[in-house]
Amino acid sequence: MTRYEKTWKRDLTYSLWHRKLEDELTFIDIDACEYCAECFEPLALIELARDVGQKHKPSIVTKKLARKAGIPAYRVFYKVNKKGKIVAFRVKELYPDESEEIKMTPEEYADFLRRLRRGHTCPSKKQEEDRREVRKTIFLADLL
Ligand SMILES: [Zn+2]
Repeated sequence: MTRYEKTWKRDLTYSLWHRKLEDELTFIDIDACEYCAECFEPLALIELARDVGQKHKPSIVTKKLARKAGIPAYRVFYKVNKKGKIVAFRVKELYPDESEEIKMTPEEYADFLRRLRRGHTCPSKKQEEDRREVRKTIFLADLL
């Protein structure tokens, strides 16, 4: 897992190369994919942008991808102060429901990300829980 930014610069080489191709060849960057640190299962897609007061960010492809993946998608604008520190977030659910925009502090947004994790059970743990449930069922059946 890459925990730390390596260059602090976004390499645009591929993007600039791709823009020179025919108009029908289109792509977007997937801004962020929250995932489980244990099983690497994707948990949510996030359209990210620095908050400059904008009201909208195109998100049709991200919504379609989230629907195909069966995970939620969000649009997140983050406000940066003059010292380069994130001071606020504006969060909107895109999929499965489209919500109103919610303003969050950095702490509230971090809690939101933690809740995404808590709502997830790793497939291997789920299988184990299911096996325990089967064992419990058999045990109860034996008593009847
Ligand atoms: Zn997991």
